Amino acid sequence: MKDCIFCKIITGQIPAKIIVETDDIIVFLDLKNHPLVVTKKHIANIYGLDDLLGAQVMKQAIRLARACKKGLEADGVSIFQNNEPAAGQEVMHYHLHVKPRWHKDKVMINMPDTAADEAEREDIVSKIMAALAQNHHGF
Ligand code: 5GP
Ligand code: ZN
Repeated sequence: MKDCIFCKIITGQIPAKIIVETDDIIVFLDLKNHPLVVTKKHIANIYGLDDLLGAQVMKQAIRLARACKKGLEADGVSIFQNNEPAAGQEVMHYHLHVKPRWHKDKVMINMPDTAADEAEREDIVSKIMAALAQNHHGF
């Protein structure tokens, strides 16, 4: 879709730190340094997802949650997903947030961003990818 920032990332028109890519799904680091699970097809929000694609999204969310836990030594992981501006959706292309959490961040009070410069963003991506490759199961 023209003028969609995520479609531009998917087609390689603008760069992103890509963590996983399958036929249907792409996972990349968001501007606040946590992974987003994104459908490759331009679907605005959850209302347009079919069951199969929804299952693909959740499959990747599960893998990414484990990888954040292991690779980034997260104390916890929040999964969240916004639909429509009233719910805080800013990019109108379906995506699910996988946000590593730490006790030191005020859990549940707010969702602080992880401060990170370019080298730290690279480090986050490589740690997640290394943990993904090890394919951890359960904790
Ligand atoms: P929403 O509020 O729609 O749930 O989340 C929007 C997400 O898109 C945020 O996580 C934000 O960091 C991410 N985002 C917006 N613009 C860009 C961009 O240009 N590159 C990347 N990697 N993420 C973006
Ligand atoms: Zn799009």
